[in-house]
Amino acid sequence: MIMVFIAMFLGVLHAAELEKVRVFAGETHARILVLNSDAIQDVQTRSSPPTASAPARVTLHLPGVQRSESVPAKITIGKSGIQQIQIVDVGDGIQFTIELDEARTVTTRELGDSAFLIDLLPRNGIPDESLPTAEHIEAWLNGVSLSRMAKNTPRSRKLIVLDAGHGGFDHGAIGTKGTREADIALELARRTASLLRQRLNVDVIMTRNRDIFIPLRDRAALANRERADLFLSIHANAAPNNVAKGIETYSLASATDANAARVAARENAMAKGWSDKSDPLLGRLLAAGTDRLSRELAFEVQRTVVDHLRSVYPDADVVDLGTKTALFYVLVSIRMPAIPFEASFVSNPDDESRLRAPHFQHATSTAIVDAVEAWLGRQKEN
Ligand SMILES: [Zn+2]
Repeated sequence: MIMVFIAMFLGVLHAAELEKVRVFAGETHARILVLNSDAIQDVQTRSSPPTASAPARVTLHLPGVQRSESVPAKITIGKSGIQQIQIVDVGDGIQFTIELDEARTVTTRELGDSAFLIDLLPRNGIPDESLPTAEHIEAWLNGVSLSRMAKNTPRSRKLIVLDAGHGGFDHGAIGTKGTREADIALELARRTASLLRQRLNVDVIMTRNRDIFIPLRDRAALANRERADLFLSIHANAAPNNVAKGIETYSLASATDANAARVAARENAMAKGWSDKSDPLLGRLLAAGTDRLSRELAFEVQRTVVDHLRSVYPDADVVDLGTKTALFYVLVSIRMPAIPFEASFVSNPDDESRLRAPHFQHATSTAIVDAVEAWLGRQKEN
């Protein structure tokens, strides 16, 4: 059910590509983000003062890099003292030239594995406080909105991270009619995110909002970095037979039974080489005390979704598989209440048809939001 991924074929057969250039322009100071498809090494920077025939320039030599078609060879800026950026192929890579109104103080720094930031500071070297910081930009690259990051004040609103399971080459389970779990998860997560924003006074971040592969550990890392109050991971279930059907919700602990262990094994397939026996985080997490809140949330979600779907589909056989515990890799390092929700089985024809129906998706998302509302309400009381 889970496609095997051979990571070593990615990224080694061709040069890194320059994929994106974004300018954050302050009044006297600009920050330029250069995003590549891969790590690049040995970037050399050179500044030249203006001459009679040429403006002041900052030139970067990026060895082993090609310009992708989405990036133009010439980018006109016309603000923050930057005239334009030119990207020229040279023998062993590209030359990235920034033309300036006047000479500037230049610094560059790496951001993650494959991006770097160029700071063009005014001559007095004082940065513009209104620009997003390197940390903000790095979080933005990971899908966090800059305006949210810019607010350094303590949060007045709860933050919920919604995780649509799987994505990209990891399509998750495949149904009898070809339904991809990744697509169902994304659709349910989108609907839930939008209802959460509309109905509850909360902020929502999605770990993915398109069909893209995100490693499991990055999903948890995002929620931890953002200090989320709740992590809700949405999936569709599958079984080796086409009889199993129904809804189940998990929290993290040792597997309740053989079926729970099977579900966890399926969901953990992208975490190669991980074993719960060797994971030092696990003991810490299970001692951290979020497990009770997670269990309460799992219970609330399970009960609310089943009740709501039974009322919306009185003639359908909505099976309540209850709440279970299992060891989910995506949750092991997470530092907040967190649950994986398994919406229904793509491997069962009845469940699969319902999962694909917008009406069912809406009803399920509505009930999830009802449950989150009730659970958050109880936190307030305590
Ligand atoms: Zn899944």
